Amino acid sequence: MKPLLERIVAARYCVGCGLCAALAEPGAIEMAEAADGFLAPRRLRPGADPAGLRESCPGITLRQERPHRGAERIYGPFESLWAAHAADADLRHRASSGGCISALLAFLLDRRQIDGVLHLGRADGDPLRTVAGLSTTRADVLRRAGSRYAPGSLLAGWRELMESGRKIAVVGKPCDVAAVDRWLARHPEHRAQVVCAISFLCMGQPSQRATRRLVAALGVAEADVRDFRYRGEGWPGAATAVDAAGQPHAMSYEESWGRILCKDVNFRCKICPDGFGELADISCGDAWHVRAGRPDFAERPGRSLAFVRSARGRELFAAARAAGYLVAEPFPAEDLPAIQRSQVQRKIYAGVRLAALKLLGDRLLDFSGFCLLANLRQARFSDAIRNFWGTLRRRSAA
Ligand SMILES: Cc1cc2nc3c(=O)[nH]c(=O)nc-3n(C[C@H](O)[C@H](O)[C@H](O)COP(=O)(O)OP(=O)(O)OC[C@H]3O[C@@H](n4cnc5c(N)ncnc54)[C@H](O)[C@@H]3O)c2cc1C
Repeated sequence: MKPLLERIVAARYCVGCGLCAALAEPGAIEMAEAADGFLAPRRLRPGADPAGLRESCPGITLRQERPHRGAERIYGPFESLWAAHAADADLRHRASSGGCISALLAFLLDRRQIDGVLHLGRADGDPLRTVAGLSTTRADVLRRAGSRYAPGSLLAGWRELMESGRKIAVVGKPCDVAAVDRWLARHPEHRAQVVCAISFLCMGQPSQRATRRLVAALGVAEADVRDFRYRGEGWPGAATAVDAAGQPHAMSYEESWGRILCKDVNFRCKICPDGFGELADISCGDAWHVRAGRPDFAERPGRSLAFVRSARGRELFAAARAAGYLVAEPFPAEDLPAIQRSQVQRKIYAGVRLAALKLLGDRLLDFSGFCLLANLRQARFSDAIRNFWGTLRRRSAA
């Protein structure tokens, strides 16, 4: 039988986080773009699987150990729910939604509660690439604000970062934060270094090929792109490529996500039971306004949705508000289905999708504590069948 690492990749369960490279001996594994445009581990020398891969890889193992009550079965355990935005108008404008995440990070750095923030941002000299970096100043945080709808390995350098002894905050997709959670379960000695883990609602990570398609649709040759953002500079803001002559070429968020990016999302994301970032201290999303029962994507000053999920999250959120970094008002949980419909649907039917894969012989996926069975009570029979067949079809096509 192939080693586990190769089986995870072959089954298309790899999320590209890079934790396997951190678990392995230094220099044994690197993350590289595969032919499908997603990042995957590549062995630099033959060897056994990294120690702890089975129970740590978030592509195959997800553990939610906290209990859920009522609506938390869909959204994950949370203490409070807010519509929030950065008090700093520039940050709010530049960020993806309301800049809630970046405002929290700026607060932590300004108050010297952390030495740095590990998060993703555009690569220096290549605005189409997404890479991990350690932000140590507010200017760094501002530079890395905004959503990157593309692969980026957050955790390949995680072991070195932990061994450096630095205190950090980490921002990542729900699967990135799940990987951090698993690492800390194996390395409790590093717990105090991770002051806060922040996530966002994630409907799935598009491939790098999707970014190339988006740039082509904007009418700019890749070599001519001088600057690029997926959204931001307003809410939701437009996907914008700036060409060699300094001309911006833009496409609305609805079109860039709905017509291009969401069409090429990682297979593993389609069966994800954790789109809401349940394992984070705070997870943020878009607090869209509702019009005729649907999210309204008309341009407005940004608003982040913020689930405060832990005592650490509560303290940080309250302190950032009290210090004037964040402006927040309670957000009614009853409005969530209207603004996060796809997320809610994916959570309800995650159990059906998983069952389809198990029927096809899957022995790798091990998701526990996400109420997959209980949520099926909300499923409609016809939609359950559709989700079941859809997963079988997608898997067979893979
Ligand atoms: C792939 C993807 C799917 C998403 N799906 C949804 C969804 O279904 N519903 C929803 O409401 N919101 C979704 N979002 C989140 C939304 O776009 C905003 O990121 C979120 O609302 C937080 O906004 P903010 O203004 O508070 O964050 P900002 O202040 O702009 O900060 C964003 C932070 O996220 C980090 N980041 C950006 N892209 C990535 C990435 N790909 N991987 C890891 N870290 C990253 C940045 O480094 C930065 O620290 C998604 C984002 C991404 C990248």
